[in-house]
Formats: sequence, C-alpha cells, structure tokens
Amino acid sequence: MNGLRRQLCLDQSLETGNLLLEMDFWRLGSNHTLVSVWSTWLAQRLVALPLMVQGRRHSAADLLNYANEANIQVAVYASVERILLASTSQYSRSRLSAIGVVYRDKKGRYHHAMVREKGEVMLSAGAIGSPQLLLISGIGPRSYLSSLGIPVSYHLPYVGQYLYDNPRNGISIVPPMPLENSLIQVVGITEAGAYLEAASTVIPFVSPARAVFIRTPSTSPLYLTVATLMEKIVGPLSTGSLRLASTDVRVNPIVRFNYFSSPVDVERCVNGTRKIGDVLRSRSMEDFMFREWFGARNFRYVGPALPVDLSDFTQMADFCRRTVSTIWHYHGGCVMGKVVDRDYHLIGVGALRVVDGSTLTVSPGTNPQATLMMLGRYLGLKIIRERKKSH
Ligand SMILES: Cc1cc2nc3c(=O)[nH]c(=O)nc-3n(C[C@H](O)[C@H](O)[C@H](O)COP(=O)(O)OP(=O)(O)OC[C@H]3O[C@@H](n4cnc5c(N)ncnc54)[C@H](O)[C@@H]3O)c2cc1C
Repeated sequence: MNGLRRQLCLDQSLETGNLLLEMDFWRLGSNHTLVSVWSTWLAQRLVALPLMVQGRRHSAADLLNYANEANIQVAVYASVERILLASTSQYSRSRLSAIGVVYRDKKGRYHHAMVREKGEVMLSAGAIGSPQLLLISGIGPRSYLSSLGIPVSYHLPYVGQYLYDNPRNGISIVPPMPLENSLIQVVGITEAGAYLEAASTVIPFVSPARAVFIRTPSTSPLYLTVATLMEKIVGPLSTGSLRLASTDVRVNPIVRFNYFSSPVDVERCVNGTRKIGDVLRSRSMEDFMFREWFGARNFRYVGPALPVDLSDFTQMADFCRRTVSTIWHYHGGCVMGKVVDRDYHLIGVGALRVVDGSTLTVSPGTNPQATLMMLGRYLGLKIIRERKKSH
C-alpha cells in the first residue's frame, strides 16, 4: 500500500433524517424508550470525529490515518487462505499455536505473514469469514471436517454454530409527497424488545411503475420516495449455522439462520409488527396516505401490507415468516464461551484470537458497528498494557 494516508473509506453523504417514527412514538404516548441510533451517533461523532466536519460517514479503515507507518503493513485486496498452525514448545500453555497466515494478493500470488516472537494472529473476518477460515484451517468439529477431507488440526465443536441474524419485518409505502433520502436515525424500543425504525429512499422509477403512481405526461425519469417502517428483534433465540461450500476461501459458505425457529421470536415479531400497525393508524401518518377519488384515504404499499386484523396471531405470524429479511446485523459463529474465551483467545489453540462480531451471542444496541470498533480498541489497549507489564 502506498502510504497509509490513502483513503479506503466509502464516500457516503451523511443523511439528514425525517423523524417520522420519533414523532409517532411521542404521539402514541405509550411506554417506549426513544433513543438515537447510538452506534451511528458514536461512529460519526467519536470514532470519525476529525472528518465529521466534512459531513461524511467513515469506515474503520480511516483509523489507519492515525497508525504509525513504521509499525504496520497493510495488504489491500488480499484474501487470507489459511491460518498456519504448528505444535510448538515455545508456547508452553498449549500444544498447538498459530504461527502465521497464507494470503493471496490481487494478482493471485501467495504470501506468508508469520508472527514474531510473542506475536499472535488476530482473526477479524466477521461472522461469516472467521468461522469459514477456521474450518478451512482445520479447526472445527472433527467429524464434519473429516467428511470434507480437511485434515483436523484441532477439534472445536462449535465453530460455525450459534450463528444468529436479527429478523427484520416491515412495510414500505409510497407517500404522496417527496421525502428526503434518510437512513435510520431514531429507534423506538418496545417493552417486548422489538426495535422500530424508519427510513426513506429516493428511487428512480420507469414505466410502467409511473403509470401506477403518478399521472403526469412527463417523459423524464421519475424519482419517488419509498418510506419503510420496520422492526427488528434484538437477541433472537433462533440459531443457525454455517457450512463450507468449498475449501476455497473465495467461495461463499452456506449459511442458514433458521429465522423464527423459536416460537418466542415469532411472538416478538408479531408484537413488533402490531406496533407498526399502531404507527400506521396514528394521526401523523394521515399525511402519508393518498386521497382516493371517492374521498377515502389509503396507503400505497410497495410489497405486502400488514394483515387487516392485527389481533389475528396466525395471520400476523404468517406475515412475519413471509416477509422476513435481514438488517445485516448477523453475528455469532465463533461465540464466546464455546469457541473463544473471555479474552478472545481461541479455546485450545495458542497465539490466535478472534476479535469481531462472530464472537457475539447478542448484537449490541440498535446497530453494532461502533461497538465492534470499540471492541478492537479495547482489546488492542489491553494487549499493549499486558505486553508492557511482562517486559
Ligand atoms: C449492507 C450493510 C449495512 C450495514 N449498515 C450498518 C449501519 O448503518 N450501522 C452499523 O452499526 N452497522 C451496520 N451494518 C453491520 C456492520 O457493518 C457489521 O455488524 C460489522 O461491520 C461487523 O463487523 P465485523 O468486524 O464483525 O466484520 P466485518 O466488518 O464484516 O469485517 C470483516 C472483514 O474481513 C474481510 N474478510 C473476510 N474473510 C476474509 C479473508 N479470508 N481474507 C481477508 N479478508 C477477509 C471482509 O471482507 C471484511 O472486510 C451493516 C452491514 C451491512 C452488510
């Protein structure tokens, strides 16, 4: 990499939000906690503070700007193929230790990155990448690895297990007036633990969609707002798993989240979607309805509407199952207590830690990113402190 100052971040404009959902929670006057989207707030104001004045969002890669170039080498567009393991007496507490990684650069050339004395491999490939890489490296359930012909380096039964995703359900409408593009900025948390959020997106529509929504003869492209009200369940009890589709790390593994396999999650989804129904029936949402020629007012839905009878549990549960999607907060796969210990060391293998969302059994808060950045910082500082102590 030519200098750490090279920007790796995405150039995304910071959204200015409509506080539609916030408004409705106050008006409903029920027992909801209203909080700002903590992680987004934190990421924008604390983690990326120096660049906040430019009104842009930044990724963790921006923190490289503050690294000491003499102490770090970054390989971009590189893909780690395998963790190298060896039995070594250097690490007295465990027989097997990580000694480095093999990675492939963007031109397909292989490289070795080896740990120095007292060094460690820190695996942060995420909820899908970390368990995948451990399995490919021969760390996982013995019988499963053997069935794939992968030599077993260490039998660790729960690698790739306890994978979670927070189910998201909701509705989308086209309002009669344009709204600004707005990502999620506020969240309402119900007593039953559903997180309610709102967003609006401006989407270019072409014929025949135009004929459905707008009656103008214009031939220029139409940009319509789609407003979405959604709820996600925090801490789902339904668990999934990850299996390898190939021993080639570039092939995506097969992931099953088993949404709503726990009846508790179904019940929480039904409660959350009922609350969306309450929001839709509130006075402030009337402005988002279209007036029909005979005087009635209705929402124009994009995709499925909520069942008419919100009290019908069977219909609501069916809506949850039919419309479930991800909010991209999947986590687990190398969970603490089963794959890593409290210091994020891989259980039974030396000089190897997993530090990312794969270690979580619950994705924290509304959005996890800032917490995960702080996890990296927490562990980094802890390791520095421990090293200083041992010298
Ligand atoms: C579309 C989308 C939108 C999101 N929006 C938000 C949001 O607005 N706010 C928020 O807080 N969270 C958001 N999230 C969730 C958040 O991004 C994740 O929870 C968080 O990034 C997880 O962090 P992590 O460190 O566990 O893994 P990741 O951030 O996924 O990092 C893992 C990294 O490892 C790399 N990797 C994997 N395998 C290999 C390999 N073999 N070799 C080399 N590199 C590898 C991956 O490319 C990736 O860069 C969003 C997620 C998605 C997908």
